[in-house]
Amino acid sequence: MKRLTFALLLVAAACKQEQSAVAPSVAQTPPPSSAQTAAPPAFVHDPHSYARPDEVRVTHLALDLDVDFAKKQLAGTAALTIQRTRPNASTLTLDTHDLAIQSVALNPGNVPAQFALATADPILGSKLTIPLQPATNTVVIRYASSPGARALQWLEPAMTAGKKQPFLLSQSEAILARTWVPLQDSPQVRFTYEATIRVPHELMAVMSAENVTQRSADGVYHFTMPQPVPSYLMALGVGDLAFRAFDGRSGVYAEVPVIDAASREFSDTPKMIGAAEQLYGPYRWGRYDLLVLPPSFPYGGMENPRLTFLTPTVIAGDKSLVSLIAHELAHSWSGNLVTNATWNDFWLNEGFTTYFEHRITEALYGREYSEMLWLLGLTQVKEELPTLPVKDQALYLDLTGRDPDDAPDLVYEKGALFLRLLEEKAGRARWDQFLRGYFDAHAFQSMTTTRFIDALKQGLPDVVQQVKVEEWIYGPGLPANCPQPHSEAFAKVEAAAKQFASGGPASAIDMTKWSSHERQHFVESLPSLTPARMGELDARFHFTDSGNSEVLFAWLMKSVEDRYKTAYPAIERFLTSQGRRKFVKPLYAALWSHAEDRAFAKEVYAKARASYHPVTQSAVDDTLK
Ligand SMILES: [Zn+2]
Repeated sequence: MKRLTFALLLVAAACKQEQSAVAPSVAQTPPPSSAQTAAPPAFVHDPHSYARPDEVRVTHLALDLDVDFAKKQLAGTAALTIQRTRPNASTLTLDTHDLAIQSVALNPGNVPAQFALATADPILGSKLTIPLQPATNTVVIRYASSPGARALQWLEPAMTAGKKQPFLLSQSEAILARTWVPLQDSPQVRFTYEATIRVPHELMAVMSAENVTQRSADGVYHFTMPQPVPSYLMALGVGDLAFRAFDGRSGVYAEVPVIDAASREFSDTPKMIGAAEQLYGPYRWGRYDLLVLPPSFPYGGMENPRLTFLTPTVIAGDKSLVSLIAHELAHSWSGNLVTNATWNDFWLNEGFTTYFEHRITEALYGREYSEMLWLLGLTQVKEELPTLPVKDQALYLDLTGRDPDDAPDLVYEKGALFLRLLEEKAGRARWDQFLRGYFDAHAFQSMTTTRFIDALKQGLPDVVQQVKVEEWIYGPGLPANCPQPHSEAFAKVEAAAKQFASGGPASAIDMTKWSSHERQHFVESLPSLTPARMGELDARFHFTDSGNSEVLFAWLMKSVEDRYKTAYPAIERFLTSQGRRKFVKPLYAALWSHAEDRAFAKEVYAKARASYHPVTQSAVDDTLK
């Protein structure tokens, strides 16, 4: 997932009568059979799941669901194939949250089961306990989701790009899969899945699975996911979608009005896949496609396997924000392939991915470019650190009793800096060899922080001696040996900001050749300015009208801080036109910190709230308390 830092209508009309065509799949590496891999690691205690995979674990899920936009409901069955981890185990324990469980049957024999649904915990939901018979190998649960299911966002047509059809999107990470499927919602439990999804005829369904590229005539879609995935990577999107291919193994789905721009913006995707494979080995998931969502999607992107979900706020028109694709693609290795065992180990997913993202970006656009991104990341770490309690400044976190979605963003860039330090000490060639071996050895398995440290000690013992591993992982702040990214371009930007801050005129600054990262860094490097001086910059560089969401966000934050009221109509436009939590939450918080802006914040939120995803809504609800 990315929360930090940061149309061609494919023969839709003509193909309504045709059979859906499965997207062409290139040679793919099948999931390893149990004979090829080492024994999977033992299950550990997960404070965010009631599941007991150490007793009985789910190995396959077959979903059969109707999508009802009028009721805002998914309804049907989930058939769970199970395996006993402990011989003679007699109970299957599942996670649910706001699900109406209608019946449970045990197979073979279709025997009704006397299940028990516990009282709901506000964060974890309700434990579902199902007594098994000795012969039970499959459990079939008939259920329906609630209209308020936190994973699901039901968008009215007015909230989509096309304005004519509704849209449904899911966001299961971290512990929200249980709000639309009863399952073992712990990242250490992997299962394969298949699904039959019925949607209104005029809409198309896609999942984190093998997808079709054309509409089905009857609104029925079948999916298979042959590689075992953890529950948080279950994903569903339903909308008036078109598809356009980049090449034989990647392409983009988007609403019709957006597909042209999306296809242009993300056309470097095949090159990114190639660069990632060069670094850390084959892409093991078959196809890699993108789904561009309506603007209320709460995150930058979500690495749903085979189908990255993306915010449209990264379509800047100049490919300046495509490092987001590098991030989500990198998760195909770090996260999706080698998965954090619990959300306390979240840094293993996001720190690795952020590091890997910078490496892909360097391979494609050069070192000077990637150093700018490293520096933007370091700036964010330094800004975030003082706002966090000491216990939340570590990489390994204790999130027991808390919603893992509230974990600080710090682990992304701090984790990446730690890995950069390991690279610098080991030397790039040796480090890359270690990482490649790490992904191979632990593919399709979960990873704890302690197991990672063990692997590091085994593979690079001399490096472990040098870098203060424990201080980085369990300690607060940034250790003294933190790597120092360097960018000549940013040094010039900082000089320009300094000159302006000391009274120089805006006309002395030449931004014509600056990238959007340089513009963003310029804004972030400025000290407090008077509204008049802000106005001078704005008149010359038009920050308030920037089409780049990162530059605009940095400027609007500064406008609140420096009381530059001219930008307030733009703040309202920004907050009512997208719902990315990373932008929305800090802007409301900034407004809320000024007593005189509170009425404005409330007024804007009253207009915007319905268009936000529940994840964003609850973040802003908390902020405006
Ligand atoms: Zn991520």
